[in-house]
Amino acid sequence: MTPLHCTCGQTELVLSGAPILSVECCCTSCRTAAERLNLLPGGAIPLGPQGQTHFVLYRKDRVTPPDAGLLVAFRLTPQSTTRRILSACCHTPLFLEFKGGHWISLYAALWPKGTTPKATLRTMTSDLPAPQTLPHDIPNARTQNSRFIWALLRAWVEMGFRSPPIPTKGEIDG
Ligand SMILES: [Zn+2]
Ligand SMILES: [Zn+2]
Repeated sequence: MTPLHCTCGQTELVLSGAPILSVECCCTSCRTAAERLNLLPGGAIPLGPQGQTHFVLYRKDRVTPPDAGLLVAFRLTPQSTTRRILSACCHTPLFLEFKGGHWISLYAALWPKGTTPKATLRTMTSDLPAPQTLPHDIPNARTQNSRFIWALLRAWVEMGFRSPPIPTKGEIDG
């Protein structure tokens, strides 16, 4: 069991088992969202030197979320189907959820220092202004490579093709 907490400690998520993947996303949406969320009091998404966001992907059935009342959702635009979920208490960014997705992408900054699952892949590097400056310590995938897609697909098969919902209290503008 891995408990993760918001900055103020009131909101707890509990994870069980291993993550699907640990990745750095280089897409424009993740960078824009981080810039906007970091303007909120309490918002603190550390970005990598090239602007990448580190996420740890977990099956939803391996996540025990807090009560819906402790979570608020942020969307980049009113039409966005992707939600970024924050703690209602202190606006700590917790995770990203695609509509209908069977997994969530947790912000790696939630792990206590030294315990974060190490990223093994960078995705969406084609969105970066200067992808050639990325280090080659882990694979740099221009979009979402076959390994990424296969890992998500295998998780969905193992879950029996279910996508359990994670209720939240409301929405937040930022
Ligand atoms: Zn909090
Ligand atoms: Zn992204």
